[in-house]
Amino acid sequence: MTVIPYGRQTIEFDDIDAVLKTLSTDWLTQGPRVKEFEEALAQYCGARYAVAVSSGTAALHLAVLALDLKKNWDAITTPISFVATSNSVLYVQGKVVFADIEPATVNIDPGQIAKKIRPSTKVILPVHFGGLPCRMPEIYTIALRQKIKIIEDGSHALGARYHYKGEWVKVGSCRHSDMTVFSFHPVKTMTLGEGGAIATNDPELYKKLLALRTHGIYRDEKTQKIGPWFYEMRELGFNYRVTDFQCALGLSQLKKLDRFIEERREIAAQYQEAFKDLPYFQAAQTNCEFESAHHLFAVRINFKKLKTTRQKFISALAEFHGVGSQVHYIPIYCQPYYRRLGFKKGLCPNAERYYEETLSLPLFPSMTESQVQTVINGIKALVH
Ligand SMILES: *Cc1c(COP(=O)(O)O)cnc(C)c1O
Repeated sequence: MTVIPYGRQTIEFDDIDAVLKTLSTDWLTQGPRVKEFEEALAQYCGARYAVAVSSGTAALHLAVLALDLKKNWDAITTPISFVATSNSVLYVQGKVVFADIEPATVNIDPGQIAKKIRPSTKVILPVHFGGLPCRMPEIYTIALRQKIKIIEDGSHALGARYHYKGEWVKVGSCRHSDMTVFSFHPVKTMTLGEGGAIATNDPELYKKLLALRTHGIYRDEKTQKIGPWFYEMRELGFNYRVTDFQCALGLSQLKKLDRFIEERREIAAQYQEAFKDLPYFQAAQTNCEFESAHHLFAVRINFKKLKTTRQKFISALAEFHGVGSQVHYIPIYCQPYYRRLGFKKGLCPNAERYYEETLSLPLFPSMTESQVQTVINGIKALVH
């Protein structure tokens, strides 16, 4: 049986056309489409600047690196994320400190952040899980008191908004952070194949990020005085460039992003309605204050009460009902690499309980009505 995946890209004819057109220009790697995409992305988010790079992981790495942190520093983040979030801290020789989640939103709990702050804490890295924004104003207030920087991992949340003092604030506007990172992997709300970006309002960080993307090389007023051929490598950077044809795809996808999110929202609403009376089964994230980008439809299932296990449930859902699913996420500190760093089970009880119960159901814009029904029927057949 073909199984409906938990997520997939939506590529339409005009997306393909945009890429093909770019392929026949002079610019195969970084060229004019990159700048255009960055400007469009910054405008979409309401940030002053955006820097496009080769992946969300590269974006996280550069964001942390750009803060120029000296020795013995640590960063607070959530255990319920993809490993790339906390790995970015390790890349820059920081120490990771995990703060537990709020059960109702699956996002990092601002109260737990406050408890984990030490003199060495230099960064907070909140993740907008599933596309639902964290409580950024609260996190910002905590950080501001201690001069701690904030990097938002917005990989799930491009297009999401939260309420602040009677206004909508978009994730990526960096209203309550120094930088926001995005990923354009195919399962995310829009794609470049592989790709990522960093949004910021800080002109110094912007300049630094541009240089770090290309080996730490600067070409500016100072180098121009010597000649157009001259350049200076002032920091140790990387090759994290993204190509022009990827950014052509990005420009095309960005125009459709609001439609994609609306389609995701409608499917999520259908699920909510269909599942509302099921026993031992609930949507994982309930917060009507904020507007999610609906990257995931994560649910919590009491498998024990349903007299099953998650593995049996996943298999039955796929084999008998054609419904794929995925687990987001195994608490990062439970991974062998992190255990070797000394992290132990029991560190974040809410995250561990969440992990035991969670499953993400198919959610992507091009899902047909009949696929949505297949998911609903499959769940209803197994949960009663
Ligand atoms: C996808 C993802 C990343 C990494 O992005 P890539 O583009 O795959 O490198 C980082 N953090 C989170 C929360 C993600 O979901």
